[in-house]
Amino acid sequence: MSFASDTKKELCKIKPQRCCRKAECYGLLLFGRSFSPQAVSLTTESLAAAHLAAEFAAEVAGAVMDISVPQTSRKDAVCTVSAVGEEQAAKVLACFGHSGHEISLRIGFANLENDCCHAAFLRGVFLACGTVTAPEREYRLEFAVPYMNLANDLAGCIRDVLEIDLEPRVSRRKGAFVVYVKGGSRVADLLTFLGAPDAAMELLQVRMLKDLRNMVNRQTNFETANLEKTASAAAQEVLAIEKIRSSGKLSALPDDLRELASLRLQYPEMSLRELGQQLSAPLSRSGVHHRLQRILDFAEKIR
Ligand SMILES: [Zn+2]
Repeated sequence: MSFASDTKKELCKIKPQRCCRKAECYGLLLFGRSFSPQAVSLTTESLAAAHLAAEFAAEVAGAVMDISVPQTSRKDAVCTVSAVGEEQAAKVLACFGHSGHEISLRIGFANLENDCCHAAFLRGVFLACGTVTAPEREYRLEFAVPYMNLANDLAGCIRDVLEIDLEPRVSRRKGAFVVYVKGGSRVADLLTFLGAPDAAMELLQVRMLKDLRNMVNRQTNFETANLEKTASAAAQEVLAIEKIRSSGKLSALPDDLRELASLRLQYPEMSLRELGQQLSAPLSRSGVHHRLQRILDFAEKIR
């Protein structure tokens, strides 16, 4: 399983409320292979996404959709979801306020009824035409869109909905317009917004390990194997502390744990012994280990 397909799997498990189901359905179909009076169809390598599109289209637009699943075990095989005939395609278009005679395809923002619907819409778009690169290689999430105006609308939508600017860009590749977001924090933020916090966490964890390894590689007077172990333990600790912080629970930690937590964030490369020496009341290696364990337990209970 690739990082992208795991992410799509996670997104398909969400059970959105009614207004959001319409928005997600719109994202899935508008950014599919075809959205015209002749054909409304979507091709995807994710069977779960195909089922979702068919289910939502039936519920939201009352349209009958056909799913064809390839009879092959090839990894890049795709499923096709399509409206059965022009009559069903017309139902889909009408439901989302498209006449089918527009000069160029644009996003009809009236279909996103409430604020909550933006995430659902973008999730549908991602399931239809998006992908995310494995974080071991690169931090990049992108959407391949066939039409320029639609691509620009999408970039504008990503810019508008999140409070942080993810700096989406549009480029051309093989006749398609690619809307992409780059950078670890931005991609993680977008994944969280779409509804894939597990994928976001995995990305941040990989980044943390990479950063620590780079740091370790710059130091030569230690045994590498030992440092790798230290690095991955420290990464777990930093992630746990980040999790506590982002959930606003840092102040709920006892004073002794909070002091250690903020030191660990500041010095992810330090050994336990060094950390212990930095504390206002110095502590042994095993004392520090014990406190870090309590911090990990604390983070474990948050969800
Ligand atoms: Zn909604």
